[in-house]
Amino acid sequence: MMIYDDEKKITVSAVYRLLIASFLTSTAFAIFFNTYPTAHIIDSIIPSIDAIVLLIVLIYYHYNPHTDINKIIVFYIIFFILTFSPSAIYYVFMAWNSEWRFIDEYPPVTGLMMAIIMLGIIMLPKRYKRYIVLMWASTALPIICYLLNHPEELQTPRGYELIGTFGSASLLLYTVFPYQKSIRRHINKVTGDLRRYELEAGRDYLTDIYNRRGLDLWLGQLNHDDKVAVLLIDVDHFKQINDRHGHSIGDRVLVEVASRLRTIYFEKHTIARWGGEEFAVVLVNPKTNTLPFISSMFQHALGTLPYKSVGKITVSVGVSSIAHHDNFLDLINQADKALYTAKDNGRDQAVMYNRIHPQLAD
Ligand code: GH3
Ligand code: MG
Ligand code: MG
Repeated sequence: MMIYDDEKKITVSAVYRLLIASFLTSTAFAIFFNTYPTAHIIDSIIPSIDAIVLLIVLIYYHYNPHTDINKIIVFYIIFFILTFSPSAIYYVFMAWNSEWRFIDEYPPVTGLMMAIIMLGIIMLPKRYKRYIVLMWASTALPIICYLLNHPEELQTPRGYELIGTFGSASLLLYTVFPYQKSIRRHINKVTGDLRRYELEAGRDYLTDIYNRRGLDLWLGQLNHDDKVAVLLIDVDHFKQINDRHGHSIGDRVLVEVASRLRTIYFEKHTIARWGGEEFAVVLVNPKTNTLPFISSMFQHALGTLPYKSVGKITVSVGVSSIAHHDNFLDLINQADKALYTAKDNGRDQAVMYNRIHPQLAD
């Protein structure tokens, strides 16, 4: 999700810059051609219209920043074609009808066109590739056709320059595609790796449930006014399990505890390995009167049925009160105190913090 958001942000800012640059360029052309008019009024009209249209789109986009970026891109492509294609066709048409020599009359805009097409290739997402080809073809093809059919015009400095820019130099653009593709693939790989490492960094390696870091991130994305309660679950006499069966069997028990915790399903909550043989369950917006039921549910899910490798074990549970999730560490302390009481009272039981400190009950 995040990666796509980033990619969209990059596209939005790229298109925005493309619009601004095009506006400034059109304005410059408009000023130039109105100050030094050519014989053709079309040369000063088109950049003036372009500048106005681009300004309108920029203002619109500024006040409606959530406009679908794809619409703006399609607008830009149509805008490009409408700007460059009609005049190319017009000059070619008139020249073919012997009104004039094409190379004398066609305005000097090839460099600008190639620059925009190049920017388009670099900035726009891959799926716009064929539109870029269309942008090139709508203008370059009529001119190339004309020049190839009029060698006397082709064999002039302007003729060579036109055929060079629209023909062989255009092939250079094609080299940008694979380059862009490999950069994009590299970026995707790096962002993918980063996401995977982020996910892994939040997981406990042994049990594959959240560790403290993952739990912290999970808490961070709760709703603004969510309240939580914490259950701390500690395996009883775990040291003995290790001593009796060995550390790796102890590990297996922890993995099985985690998978049993995963199977318990009820309203919104999450589980984490808080440390060693101690697990945390965070309940979101629980009702006070359901806490004893939920905690004994966890206690029995972990303590009733025998484990594959070691038989029956028991757990003790400490339950905090309910508070805003900003106070998570206070709740952990409460649960820890309740857990300590449970251990003191003989283990294999759940203790509510509110019972040992009834004056704090909410
Ligand atoms: P209590 O009922 O009071 O909780 O007794 P306990 O033996 O469970 O508590 P204690 O804190 O004395 O011992 C916890 C043991 O858990 C000690 C430690 O070696 C073991 N332990 C902690 N992390 C791991 C782990 O990742 N794998 C294994 N196999 N053992 C672990
Ligand atoms: Mg223990
Ligand atoms: Mg412990």
